[in-house]
Amino acid sequence: AAKVAGRNRHAWFDRAMERSIQARAELETGLRIAIPQAQIVPFFEQQVDLATGRITGFEVLARWEHPTRGLIMPDMFIPVAEQTGMIGELSLSVMRQAFTAARDWDAGLTLSVNISPIQLRDAWLAQKIIKTLVETGFPASRLEIEITESALFENLALAQSIVGSLKNQGIALALDDFGTGYSSLAHLRALPFDRIKIDKSFVGSILDNAESAAIVNTIVRLGDSLNLPITAEGIEDDAVEKRLCAIGCTKGQGYLYGRPLGAAHVRRLLAEKRLLAQHPAVSGLVDT
Ligand code: C2E
Ligand code: MG
Ligand code: MG
Ligand code: MG
Repeated sequence: AAKVAGRNRHAWFDRAMERSIQARAELETGLRIAIPQAQIVPFFEQQVDLATGRITGFEVLARWEHPTRGLIMPDMFIPVAEQTGMIGELSLSVMRQAFTAARDWDAGLTLSVNISPIQLRDAWLAQKIIKTLVETGFPASRLEIEITESALFENLALAQSIVGSLKNQGIALALDDFGTGYSSLAHLRALPFDRIKIDKSFVGSILDNAESAAIVNTIVRLGDSLNLPITAEGIEDDAVEKRLCAIGCTKGQGYLYGRPLGAAHVRRLLAEKRLLAQHPAVSGLVDT
């Protein structure tokens, strides 16, 4: 009986495996056409000044608007794009759409875009990003690039030179998901970061987990002494926001302020808040 059960388990396992391999292959072929058809679109998540509650800008988060499956989240397709050499193209397509959408937003608002460590192996990455900025008319000074901690940059010298070119244009650099990766402190020295983002796994539990509180405290103090401002991600309630303010964290984002929105929704939100560049109410004020 055991033998039969064992064989059945194998048969089940093989079929499950086969299905997952097939699902992945479908994702890959789907992605190949989704990128040029701009089915991978930018969503935007508010970033706010914790002291005033004002919107300072948005983080750009990729979503796949699949023609039959609905909205697919990045955790499903970014790894596939990374493994199949499509991440560079995907990223530039999302940036192009995001820069175009943000052109008529208030000039004080910034955009933060995520890039994959794999993209830092492309010697032309900085040129491609700068070209996209020039073609869309979005100013480099309002762009921040977020790099997630990763094991090690395959070619650190190349990564440093790409980042140097970006910073020369006035683009800022943030270290994303700080504290979750391998050798966080080494990363801080490897590249000239302008900001640290504390991962939501620490932020969310800051009130009920002494370790998380200690870690967030320490990161904020580290930022202070290195002169790097801190953004906290994953703020879901007022109490967490208050605590972060008290600790000295200046910027935050999370569902407390709003879920990531498509470009049309952001436009409506900004119109309500009088944060569009050419909003009639604003020019009206200037006239009187
Ligand atoms: P991330 O850059 O750390 O982005 C923050 C993630 O946390 C987003 O998930 C966001 O929706 C989610 N989040 C924000 N506030 C809250 C909150 O209050 N509570 C909770 N539970 N979650 C919150 P999302 O959009 O699923 O993105 C997942 C990851 O995918 C991102 O993590 C980023 O690493 C990656 N990603 C997204 N878009 C791109 C892209 O265009 N290129 C690359 N390379 N990676 C991307
Ligand atoms: Mg990010
Ligand atoms: Mg993050
Ligand atoms: Mg994260």
